[in-house]
Amino acid sequence: MHGPTGSNGPTGLTGPTGPTGLPKAELHLHIEGTLEPELAFALAARNGVTLPYADTAALREAYRFSDLQSFLDLYYGLMAVLRTAEDFTELTDAYLGRAAAQGVRHAEIFFDPQAHTARGVPVGTVIEGLSASLERSEERYGISTRLIMCFLRDESAESALATLEAAKPHLDRITGVGLDSAEVGHPPAKFREVYEAAAALGLRRVAHAGEEGPAAYIREALDVLGVERIDHGLRCMEDPELVERLVRERVPLTLCPLSNVRLRAIDVLADHPLRAMMAAGLLVTVNSDDPAYFGGYVGDNFDGVRDALGLTPEQLRELARNSFEASFLDDDEPRRARYLSEVEAYEFGAE
Ligand SMILES: [Zn+2]
Repeated sequence: MHGPTGSNGPTGLTGPTGPTGLPKAELHLHIEGTLEPELAFALAARNGVTLPYADTAALREAYRFSDLQSFLDLYYGLMAVLRTAEDFTELTDAYLGRAAAQGVRHAEIFFDPQAHTARGVPVGTVIEGLSASLERSEERYGISTRLIMCFLRDESAESALATLEAAKPHLDRITGVGLDSAEVGHPPAKFREVYEAAAALGLRRVAHAGEEGPAAYIREALDVLGVERIDHGLRCMEDPELVERLVRERVPLTLCPLSNVRLRAIDVLADHPLRAMMAAGLLVTVNSDDPAYFGGYVGDNFDGVRDALGLTPEQLRELARNSFEASFLDDDEPRRARYLSEVEAYEFGAE
């Protein structure tokens, strides 16, 4: 029996015993979206960048978004503080530390190279910086990792192809490619060529679809881009035939409940379709998206849906199981089996 002082973590350290401590994989996490105001100001000072906010409180005040675009404007603006490989290492270390405290055992991390190359930071600097942290993640934080390079869908297809080309010397550190940023008006098919090239290089494929864009974008991502996982995918619920297909083909959907509220896809967490999606038999996972901006890390998302939707410990365990099943750990099945047995062994404490 684990009370508040029970030990549950892989290291046997005392940790949280609710959904936060539940072992889980995080599959939808933009590393740039983990930039907390304190680190942003510290990096700004170090790099001689002036931020248009008086202090961290003023910056937090700006985190009241009306939609995806209003968030993206601030998100890209704040990236100006990320200049050196060390900056990216520090950013990633900070995320991994927070993730470990919230039960994360495996993380598949997105990054947006074009948001940095556009500011004169070479893709090699970004990947070197991220990798320096990821290489010691297991030892320091007990978290295995994969890196997924995302293309900005509001940039051109040519720019995406050039980005893939520039990343070629670093492909040993990259597991897959993704597609993010402003969705509406930028259908998946725009990136057919770059996804074909990525597949030919042996890269795994995922894409954001059906967050603000229509359910048709989800079909297109599957059929035209050949993706294995859909990021968000919320709007599949408007298309029963598509739901049937996603269930039949076991296509994972990486949901981000707190992000959906902050970006006004839904009004309140209690309106989230997660429960209905689970009941429909969809392979859904819970993730944090851009946790510094959306009010919480992945454990906070688990806590949030448990409270708002009344999820049982068994339903939470199903979400954790799904996260490992949906991961790219099929290249390391013994590890996946180990994580899954940690999920089964986890004891929810009284809270
Ligand atoms: Zn996202």
